[in-house]
Amino acid sequence: KQARFPARKTLEEFDFSFQRSVQKTLVVHLGQLDFLTAKDNVVLLGPPGTGKTHLAIALGIRACLAGQRVAFATATEWVARLGDAQRQGRLDEELRRLLWTPLLIVDEVGYIPFDAQAANLMFSLVSSRYERASLIVTSNKPFSAWGEIFGDEVVAAAMIDRLVHHAEILSLKGDSYRLRDRDLGGRPP
Ligand code: ADP
Ligand code: MG
Repeated sequence: KQARFPARKTLEEFDFSFQRSVQKTLVVHLGQLDFLTAKDNVVLLGPPGTGKTHLAIALGIRACLAGQRVAFATATEWVARLGDAQRQGRLDEELRRLLWTPLLIVDEVGYIPFDAQAANLMFSLVSSRYERASLIVTSNKPFSAWGEIFGDEVVAAAMIDRLVHHAEILSLKGDSYRLRDRDLGGRPP
């Protein structure tokens, strides 16, 4: 329902024997969507290719199948959308409207640094949904680097505080699944 996922990915397709840093039982539990009912968040952290977007989409599809509205976009896209609303003087209205969508997915926090306005918009989004509706956020950067991404340690700390208070945080590690069949000279044959 109005999700616009960049690809179709499912939990069933996820190879937990390749990605050993996430517990399958935990992901399967998330797939049962108790976090949505509880209005909790899910944060997926890890380097490129470790399966963050895959898991975010797969959980989003689960929510769709359960009849919940889901909206998927990158952090940059969310900030652009909220920036438009702000310029038209209807940011609060837009944030309130988004609360009718129980699950927002914010993909790729950290690939592109935010200016101060973008950082404030991102903070507004996290803050408006705190204890009201769920977010799934993915980032290639650890929380310790978010101050740098957002150009402001105080805004970043306040955002992280609200984001993680009721959240499942998954730290994905390891090599990129995209490069799994390439010999990059890293691992012995
Ligand atoms: P990230 O968002 O962490 O950069 P993606 O989730 O986009 O990585 O994963 C990159 C590609 O590899 C996608 O096509 C995804 O479906 C696939 N992929 C990643 N990890 C796994 C996995 N453990 N099992 C199956 N496919 C995976
Ligand atoms: Mg990704």
